[in-house]
Amino acid sequence: MEDPFTGGPRGIDQTVIDTFPVIIYDATHGKKECRGMNVCVICLAVFKEDEMLRSMPKCGHVFHSNCVDSWLQTHSTCPCCRASLVPGSGRFFSRVCWPSW
Ligand SMILES: [Zn+2]
Ligand SMILES: [Zn+2]
Repeated sequence: MEDPFTGGPRGIDQTVIDTFPVIIYDATHGKKECRGMNVCVICLAVFKEDEMLRSMPKCGHVFHSNCVDSWLQTHSTCPCCRASLVPGSGRFFSRVCWPSW
C-alpha cells in the first residue's frame, strides 16, 4: 500500500480490483453506464458486444476491464461519479485530486 504522505500514486490494490465484478457487455441488456451513454469514459470508446467490462461495486458504473484496471492503479474513485472505491472508506474521495480533463 502507498503511504499517502509520500505523494506517490494512490490507487487500489490489484487484489481488491480483482474482486470487482466482470461482465460481458451485451447491448440488449441495460447496464448502469456512465451518464446513460454506452461509452467507456476512460478511453471514450463505445462499448461493443462481448467486450469485457468491470462493474464498480459501490455505484454500479461499468468501464472496460483493462481501462479501469489501469485507472485504479493510480486512482481510488469511480471515473464517472467519483464514488470512493476504497473498501471501508466513505469520505476518502473528497480529498482525491481530480485530473484536469
Ligand atoms: Zn475503455
Ligand atoms: Zn460511479
